[in-house]
Amino acid sequence: MERGSPDPAAAALRRVGLRVTASRLAVLTALGAGAPHASVEMLVGAVRERLGDGSAQTVYNVLRTLTDAGLVRRIEPAGRPGLYELRVGDNHHHVVCRSCDAIADVDCAVGDTPCLTAADDSGYEIDEAEVIFWGRCPACLAAMAGSSAELNQVDRARGVQHQLAEPAVATAQPGSSATSHQKETAREEKDRRV
Ligand SMILES: [Zn+2]
Ligand SMILES: [Zn+2]
Repeated sequence: MERGSPDPAAAALRRVGLRVTASRLAVLTALGAGAPHASVEMLVGAVRERLGDGSAQTVYNVLRTLTDAGLVRRIEPAGRPGLYELRVGDNHHHVVCRSCDAIADVDCAVGDTPCLTAADDSGYEIDEAEVIFWGRCPACLAAMAGSSAELNQVDRARGVQHQLAEPAVATAQPGSSATSHQKETAREEKDRRV
């Protein structure tokens, strides 16, 4: 029987009573070595590199086991693939970039669930508030600032198009009861706007 392994991944598995297997070790090690928030795709690549093979299904299964055991946390920003991380138990939140999907941790001010108090709990026993901040990361902000002059021009051009496309006050539909006078007014209105 293997004893006193210095591998922290193996120690973590033992601590929660999980058998130490090559795929579990590979996933935990990949999580510790790569980006702090890893997708299944990234992890499958890392596991294959380490073990020589490894199916996506195996990685999924390992991740479910590790998540259930509390060694790994899964987060699911809306519309993005699920991400896995080793930072567990502190109820930290995340900020996600709308432009490039970059993600960063945001410490929880309280450090425990739920850190937000519902104005009205509707009689539920609430144990968690899932908080995801959305915005733009520094890199995307810098890129946007760099091309902001260009963007302004585009926006202005678009604004003019908008005005032109906007329907005049009483656009007459085929078969509508708009009188010719109303149509006339609409046309005048449009002319004035342009
Ligand atoms: Zn970004
Ligand atoms: Zn995180």
